[in-house]
Amino acid sequence: MTIIVKAPAKINLVLDATAKRTDGYHDVHMVMTTVDLADRLELTELPSGEIRMNAQHAYVPNDERNLAYKAAAVLKKKFDIQAGVEIYLEKQIPVAAGLAGGSSDAAATLRGLNDLWKLGLTLEQLAEIGAEVGSDVPFCVMGGTAIATGRGEKLEKLMAPPPCWVVLAKPTIGVSTADVYGALDLTTAKRPDVEAMIAAVKAQDFTAICQSLGNVLESVTLPMHPEVEQIKDFMTSCGAEGVLMSGSGPTVFALTEHENRAQRLYNGLRGFCNEVYVVRLLGENH
Ligand code: ATP
Repeated sequence: MTIIVKAPAKINLVLDATAKRTDGYHDVHMVMTTVDLADRLELTELPSGEIRMNAQHAYVPNDERNLAYKAAAVLKKKFDIQAGVEIYLEKQIPVAAGLAGGSSDAAATLRGLNDLWKLGLTLEQLAEIGAEVGSDVPFCVMGGTAIATGRGEKLEKLMAPPPCWVVLAKPTIGVSTADVYGALDLTTAKRPDVEAMIAAVKAQDFTAICQSLGNVLESVTLPMHPEVEQIKDFMTSCGAEGVLMSGSGPTVFALTEHENRAQRLYNGLRGFCNEVYVVRLLGENH
């Protein structure tokens, strides 16, 4: 039996880090939402009990380092499952991009295996298990739009923002999330107003959403990689209503309500970026 699952990317509309914790992570306060750029996974039951990873991508590991593999291993152990699974992963989400591609693959694996292995777990239970795999996995299990705190694993559901176009552009560099958080200096970094974003989403006020976009990690990634700032400036000059770096970067996204403006942004960005995507906000839960 084979089950097909989609793993959508996420963007952060706002991302703040409030304190460095003793376990090395930061406490975060952020609003995350899903977009319709997705990886595709095929989960096929294997009688042998083995977990086999088949990712069709040069920079994505095919062993226990893959987050989808990790998710399957955690679930298998927890419920003492005898069967195995082959995970065929078709990557669409750029890797090491700040779009939670690996976390979403892990989350999709948990959702898919819940069906394949007939575990009958709720999304909330799967999200709790996902926290053992990575901080962004619980959000990716739930999907939709949420306020996240703690390491990112404590979630409060939020309504979807009003529909709009999202233009994603990833410069050719990759960025390590751990390195970016490691270099974050909370005493000097410009902090975003998370409550203003939450209020803007609740009011369904697109202009206020664009004005409240903010990411504390830009204070680290922008000085390290000047091309990120250049893409932001270019997007603004093309008329994007809102522009921000997602997660630890280096992907930058532009929000616009106008399809022709999204197309103009896409055409302009293709000039100096290989990876450019025009997508929509998904916003709603799985
Ligand atoms: P986040 O936004 O959660 O920080 P990211 O989008 O920056 O994540 P990923 O694409 O998830 O980063 O991958 C970061 C690293 O994790 C990659 O360099 C890769 O080696 C490893 N990795 C493990 N599993 C996967 C996966 N399923 N897809 C992509 N990368 C994976």
